[in-house]
Amino acid sequence: MNYENLFAQKIQEIKKANLFRTIPEITAGAEKYITIEGKKCLNLASNNYLGLSLNEKLKTESIKAINKYGCSSSASRIVTGNYSLYTILEEEIAKFKGYEKGLILGSGYVANLSIISAICDNKWIVFSDRLNHASIIDGIKLSGAKHVRYKHNDMDHLRYSLKKYDKDVKKLIVTDTVFSMDGDTANLIEIVKLAKDYQAIVMVDEAHATGIFGKGRGLVHELGMEKEIDINMGTFSKGLGSFGAYVCASKTIIEYLINKSRGFIFSTSLPPSVIGANLAAIELLKNNYSLGLKLINISEIVRKSLASLGFNTLNSSTQIIPVIIGDRKKLFMAKDFLIKKGVFAAAIRPPSVPINTERLRISLRADLTDDELNLIIQAFKELSQCL
Ligand code: PMP
Repeated sequence: MNYENLFAQKIQEIKKANLFRTIPEITAGAEKYITIEGKKCLNLASNNYLGLSLNEKLKTESIKAINKYGCSSSASRIVTGNYSLYTILEEEIAKFKGYEKGLILGSGYVANLSIISAICDNKWIVFSDRLNHASIIDGIKLSGAKHVRYKHNDMDHLRYSLKKYDKDVKKLIVTDTVFSMDGDTANLIEIVKLAKDYQAIVMVDEAHATGIFGKGRGLVHELGMEKEIDINMGTFSKGLGSFGAYVCASKTIIEYLINKSRGFIFSTSLPPSVIGANLAAIELLKNNYSLGLKLINISEIVRKSLASLGFNTLNSSTQIIPVIIGDRKKLFMAKDFLIKKGVFAAAIRPPSVPINTERLRISLRADLTDDELNLIIQAFKELSQCL
C-alpha cells in the first residue's frame, strides 16, 4: 500500500468538490484589522466578539501569572493538584454563571468530548439539535450513546423523538444556546419543558453566548434558567478573549466529571497564563457588561440593513450573521469582492454547513465604530448589486 498516494488521492477528491482548505495567509486572527493579500481589512471572521484578547488587564494578569507560576502547569491536576489560581477561577465562574460548582477544561472541543462521554454510555440516548457544534457530535459518538438528531430548533420533532423511547431510559438533551453557523438561539424554555415531561437532563453549550447575553453570563442567565439547565458549558476562547473552557453544574455532577472526564484526567491542565487572563475577563464582565449590550445593538443594525438589501440572514438574532450565497464559486467571488472593499468575512462551506447553504459568516464585534459599520453596510450594498 502506498499511503502517500492514498492521501494524495483523497486530497484530489476534496479539491474536486471545491472543499479544499488551507490556513489563510493573514497577519493575525483576533485583531480588529488584518492584512489579506496586501489589503487592510476589517476582521469580521474572528470570535473575539468583545475585543478582549487585546485588553490590557487580560494581558497584564496573564503575564503576572507567568511570572509567578511559570509557563506550564506541567501535569494533570489529578496528579499534581493545582495552584490556587485554578480553584479561584472555578469558584468565580460558578458564581458568575449562577451554579454550585465549576470545572475548567482544556478547550471547548475537549470539554464537549469529555463531558458527554463521561455522562453518557451505551445505555443513554442523546437528543441533539442537528446544528450543534461538531464537538458535541464527536462527544456523543465517543460516549457510545444512541444519537438522535432532531431538526434544528424544531420542538415538535424533539417531542416526537422523545416520545418514541421508554420514560425509564436515561436521556440527555444537548443544544448550543447560540448556534455558531446560523446565529440563532435555542428554544430553551420549550426544551426544559420537554425534558421535564420525558425525564431527561439538559446540557447547553454557551460558547457564543458567553460575554454577550445575560450580562455576559449567557443565554441561560438571561432567561433565568440556571436551576433548570443541569450542565452549562462554555468557552473562554470567544467573547472572553482568551482560551479554554468551563463547565458549571451541581457539586455532584462536577465531582463526577472530575472522576470520569478523560479529557480532564489524562491531559495537562491549562497553563497559568491562560488562567490569569480568564480570571481577568470574568472580573471585567462582572463589573461591566456594556460591551455585550453594545454588540447586541450593533448586530440589530447590521441585520436590518442586510435584510433591506435583500440578503437572506436566516433566523439570526445574535452577533453571528450568516449571509446565504448558496453556490461555492459565487461564495468565493463574494468573499474576494468584500476583501477589495476592506471587509473580511469567513466563507463557510460544507461540511460545516449543509450543501446549498454556503454562506459568508459575519462575526460582529463590540468595538466597531459608526464609520466601520457604514463601511460594512456599503460593502454589502455594492456586493448585492453585482451578485
Ligand atoms: N462549541 C461551540 C458551539 C463552538 O463554536 C466551538 C468553537 N468553534 C467550540 C465549542 C470549541 O471551542 P474551542 O475553540 O475552545 O475548542
